[in-house]
Amino acid sequence: VPCPKAMAFGPCGGVGSDGGCEVDGHLCPFVSALAVPTIERTPLPLHLPLPTIIVDVVAPTHWNMEVRELWHQGADRLVGSVALIREDVVARRPRNEGRIRSTQQVIKLLQRAGVPSIATVTGRNRTVESARCHIGQLRDAGAVAIHCVTGDYPRASSNRSTVCFGAEAMTLAAAAVDEGVPATVAESPASPGFRAHRVKVKQQAGASLCLLNHGGDASNQISFADHCRAVGVTIPLVAPVPMVASKRSALALAGRPGVQLPHGFLDAIIDAVDPAAEGLLAAYIFMRELAASGRFDGINLSGSAVGASSTGQLSIADNFIRRAHQTWFGS
Ligand code: SF4
Repeated sequence: VPCPKAMAFGPCGGVGSDGGCEVDGHLCPFVSALAVPTIERTPLPLHLPLPTIIVDVVAPTHWNMEVRELWHQGADRLVGSVALIREDVVARRPRNEGRIRSTQQVIKLLQRAGVPSIATVTGRNRTVESARCHIGQLRDAGAVAIHCVTGDYPRASSNRSTVCFGAEAMTLAAAAVDEGVPATVAESPASPGFRAHRVKVKQQAGASLCLLNHGGDASNQISFADHCRAVGVTIPLVAPVPMVASKRSALALAGRPGVQLPHGFLDAIIDAVDPAAEGLLAAYIFMRELAASGRFDGINLSGSAVGASSTGQLSIADNFIRRAHQTWFGS
């Protein structure tokens, strides 16, 4: 059965724990294959201070503030961190009064505030050639790196017939290097397949840094980092920290393909009287363990800090960012 994402360098991170394809459940043909064909590129220098704190930047979930003002306030809170810009960061909503309509605008706005951006490019509905063109536009806008991921398959409710994958993490990483911009990649430690070897292969394809996906407890992440080093991975590894402050955002994160949250994390948020405080405490404990291990070159605050309003959302993200800086840099 062919791969629904048309991957040549699988498996993707969404393969199920039983080895089933994330799309239709058939046995993923890549799971048991150690040797994959490789693309060879030399990773470009990534000009980021290490360790680093990388923060997921998503489209606003609330629209009770002028959009441009919302982005400016968000940029202020990101100073000292690195923005990881999701591909769908610019929501097409009727109330986009501030006219922030492209990822390039977001990158430039953040850059003016002194915040470097890593821009995500997926292989969804894109050929390698069209990806190369888009990568060039993001580079010219000021992105310090391109986050090269195959991308999730749309949910069953989506119109699948309009989706096709013409590029994937490996080919995108090589394309970024060819365009003269460093590539970052992701890997899912908890997913079946030879995941540490995949990080090595992505490094060979030109990746300069790997962001790990949520893969269980801190001890699981530490073991995975050790495994990566044992197979020859030399690029920086960045560990994920859940940034959730509500039952809704916790469930959304837990539902992403390839995600395994730390033991007891989801139940603690769901049962909490104050999920925001519980999420922050859990993140702090998790970050302390990761920092003490000395295995990681930074953390990725990953998830969407969904709040009751635009300002609530910003304030929640601000709390996580401050706590991360205190934990990693004592500031
Ligand atoms: S799990 Fe991913 S790599 Fe494997 S067949 Fe499905 S889409 Fe392709």
